[in-house]
Amino acid sequence: MKRLVVLGGGESGVGTAILGKKEGYDVFVSDMGKIKDKYRDVLNQYEIKWEDEKHTEELILNADVVMKSPGIPDKAPLVKKLLENGISVISEIEFAYPFTNAKTIGITGSNGKTTTTMLTYHLLKEGGLNVGLGGNIGKSFAWQVAEENYDYYVLELSSFQLDGIINYKPDIAILTNISPDHLDRYEYKYENYIASKFRITMNQTEDDFFIYDADDEAISAWLQNNKTKAQLIPFSLLQTFENGAFIKNNTMDIIINNEEFEMKTADISLEGKHNMKNAMAATSVAQLMKIRKQTIRESLSNFQGVEHRLEKVLKIQNVQYINDSKATNVNATFFALDSMTVPTVWIVGGVDKGNDYSELMPLVREKVKAIICLGLDNKKIIDAFSDVVDMMVEVDNMRDAVNTSKHLAEKGDAVLLSPACASFDLFQNYEDRGNQFKAAVKNL
Ligand code: ADP
Repeated sequence: MKRLVVLGGGESGVGTAILGKKEGYDVFVSDMGKIKDKYRDVLNQYEIKWEDEKHTEELILNADVVMKSPGIPDKAPLVKKLLENGISVISEIEFAYPFTNAKTIGITGSNGKTTTTMLTYHLLKEGGLNVGLGGNIGKSFAWQVAEENYDYYVLELSSFQLDGIINYKPDIAILTNISPDHLDRYEYKYENYIASKFRITMNQTEDDFFIYDADDEAISAWLQNNKTKAQLIPFSLLQTFENGAFIKNNTMDIIINNEEFEMKTADISLEGKHNMKNAMAATSVAQLMKIRKQTIRESLSNFQGVEHRLEKVLKIQNVQYINDSKATNVNATFFALDSMTVPTVWIVGGVDKGNDYSELMPLVREKVKAIICLGLDNKKIIDAFSDVVDMMVEVDNMRDAVNTSKHLAEKGDAVLLSPACASFDLFQNYEDRGNQFKAAVKNL
């Protein structure tokens, strides 16, 4: 019996353990932190052995294969030791894919993964396909492979998931864009992070498809210097293609293998240029899957968007409140500001990840009437924008942020929470930050 050790007892770890058990492995789960009650119960119910708040090396170094949860860095001492002992350390996706015949659509990128994944799933599901949703979203892929019977999976793949693949390949890959993020996990080298993202296509063959943002500098540069065997489907806001997706005369136009799909961008429910890119990517998949055009059209017009991503909360006294709490880097906030059409009170700040605010300057000049700094240390934001915006206020909790925004906004304005920063100085995570924003707005 082969021994599978799972490091990390969260969603992907427990899913992998269940699949491993079903496939006849001797399974052991080990977590340095505390395993949540709901996952302990599941492990016990499946009679899977586990430990938490420790790693017992004798029970781990005897593994044939180790599944490492994406949160555990490669440089963790235990991982190093496993690799020195020649034990293969893989991600959930790599472990699970051989046990399903389903086709997979893998989606990665620095921003837009979740939105594009949800929209692609929506299009395929509305199109009548027997499709599952997984990866970084919802129920783990491995768990579904063990217990469901889908023909297709739409998978959100982080670079950490991709670092742990060896042979896995998506039948269709999407790379939404690349901008510097998570560099602490990549020796502070941008090229390492870029290489990690491109692992999504490394095992693809001539029968597979690679859908990518042709306007993205890092992606274009990589494609000039490297090769993928997959068929290329570019999308762009700036150029047109004979085979690819683009915007022309306010119409989204997608031509793949001489099949053309057209739809007015105004009829697409998502707003903002970045979301037109996400829509082009997702619709390219639907077209490859031969979903009926009428169904694609309806699905693109009724997609509800994803919580905490440019989410319209309420209009109060003709001021629109927008929750973009998921904008944890400058690039995401760039597109949020870009999509604003009225004077904006902008709530920004949190834990700075080495942000360079200069690229936001023209948008801030044009659209922002007041800045509310919501962080423990706001110096960088104040230094960057104090010459450009007259009104700047510092607060250290969400209620004050929202109350202040109400005083600063006039009829017809918008209040935008798009922090460009991580949340953990004042909040548990970006969901907590977004939920507190929504609650405070509802209390106005
Ligand atoms: P991810 O899963 O990659 O973090 P999300 O879909 O959750 O992506 O969106 C994260 C943030 O980035 C949100 O603020 C959203 O408005 C913004 N965003 C979404 N799509 C894009 C895109 N294609 N380019 C840049 N920013 C985007």
